Amino acid sequence: MIEIVAKLYSKESSQAKSVKVEFLDAGKVVISDDVEKVLSFDSLKISSRVGNTHRIITCEDGTVLHSHDNDKIDKAIKLHSNKSQLAFKLENSYKFAIISVVAIVGVVILYLTVGLDISAKFFAKNTPYSLKQTISQTTLHNLDKYLLTDSNLTKKRKDEITKMFKNLTDNSPKYKLHFRKGMGINAFALPDGEVVILDGLVKFADGDDDMIYGVLSHEKGHVELNHSMQLIAKSSLVGVLLGYFTGDISSSIGGIVGSVINAKFSREYESEADGYAKKLMLSHNKDPKHLADFFIKIEKKYGHDTNSSISNFWASHPSDKDRIKILLSK
Ligand SMILES: [Zn+2]
Repeated sequence: MIEIVAKLYSKESSQAKSVKVEFLDAGKVVISDDVEKVLSFDSLKISSRVGNTHRIITCEDGTVLHSHDNDKIDKAIKLHSNKSQLAFKLENSYKFAIISVVAIVGVVILYLTVGLDISAKFFAKNTPYSLKQTISQTTLHNLDKYLLTDSNLTKKRKDEITKMFKNLTDNSPKYKLHFRKGMGINAFALPDGEVVILDGLVKFADGDDDMIYGVLSHEKGHVELNHSMQLIAKSSLVGVLLGYFTGDISSSIGGIVGSVINAKFSREYESEADGYAKKLMLSHNKDPKHLADFFIKIEKKYGHDTNSSISNFWASHPSDKDRIKILLSK
């Protein structure tokens, strides 16, 4: 507490009165007049110090105080401004911390919901073709090494299917069809445009070439829409992001979350590839119904048998009712 003496000039009287003014720690000022007045320090206007002349302190109600206790007044001003500056700083840094946390969480959520898709699309679109080729070759090499063997189809049958493939890819040199055996009823596209069709799928189609045409169109959709590169980009980006926050790039949580997100995304990709296939088939005078027939046939044969590797594979290629409905809709 700092105490000064001052002369008080009130509006009501022209006579000056000697009063005691106390500057309290809590930013309060007490003037001991006939009646004690409590004011806030901030409401006072204090004139600047000019030599040893008296200071003029003006209150909100028009009361004016004159005081020669310059040193004490300076001390009170300093104490008060330090305190309010500290409070201001603390309040602002606290606010800033909350805003930062909210902003970071917001950015991460926004990124995972919208930004990740956009950046994955951007990376996938701008991946150099040579990198796509390297990824494709490495993938096929490993599949050949561990899971696939040479196809048993006759040359005639391979030629027939290759002819269809060339038709639906408009003879683009980017696209190449490979025949293999193993991994059941399956076909898949590699990022550079190489498509692998397995004997199991050809046999399953049972001579319905338009059904094969439909499945290959769907695979072309995955290539054209850069789906595999987007998946690779997404899992890498999610891994890096989670690594940043957990401090561990190889975090298993990152791996799990990455797979969960990818599983959700792959359903979107399947629908996109179906949409692509539908347009492509219509433009080549093929009925998209044949692709729907394939999904219906798979479901009939394997249903939701979770022990079946075929059913498991097509579960990520969901043959759900909506999918079939979209393909059959006009
Ligand atoms: Zn697919």
